[in-house]
Amino acid sequence: MNGKLIIFSAPSGAGKTTIVHNILKRFSDQIEFSISACTRSMRPNETNGKDYYFMTTEEFKNKIKKNEFAEWEEVYTGQFYGTLKSEIQRIWNSGKHVIFDLDVQGGLNLKRYFGRQAYALFVMPPSLEILELRLKQRQTETPESLARRVAKAKHEIEVADQFDKILVNENLDKACSDAEKLVSEFLRK
Ligand code: 5GP
Repeated sequence: MNGKLIIFSAPSGAGKTTIVHNILKRFSDQIEFSISACTRSMRPNETNGKDYYFMTTEEFKNKIKKNEFAEWEEVYTGQFYGTLKSEIQRIWNSGKHVIFDLDVQGGLNLKRYFGRQAYALFVMPPSLEILELRLKQRQTETPESLARRVAKAKHEIEVADQFDKILVNENLDKACSDAEKLVSEFLRK
């Protein structure tokens, strides 16, 4: 079967990952997470084939050549991320719809590839100042990487209106329940 695709994209720190986890919990019998391929090194808490399909840059580039990706991006310099067509098919074959956690450009590319079969949501922080504050509180960034992420977020917000829906994350509980409603409407269509 060919199912549907639900794409969540956002600037770093907007709350996208929490919202996606919540959707997966609520719709566990209908929706499965698309595991991306990537070339960055595996973090200690990660498992190959569960968090990502980790591969070398050479393997990744080989798959680009063989047209195996529905979309791919060099999200950070030298670090490639992409959605394998075979991953989408694997999930559809199990009778489920697919949910994605992608960077903003990847989200738009995938939406273009699949058209109305896909629903692309942009998770918007209430403001750039709040985004910066949240990133600081997360304590995962150096001053340089924080500045880079905020600068990137500015550009990403400029293309938000190209998504099917903008979901403002002012309050995480409300954003999660709004997301649930939107996803459930899309699945009923
Ligand atoms: P991380 O390295 O923190 O796991 O992910 C970094 C960024 O890459 C996140 O914004 C995530 O959404 C994005 N990302 C993960 N998988 C893919 C993918 O398959 N394609 C694209 N374009 N971005 C991805």
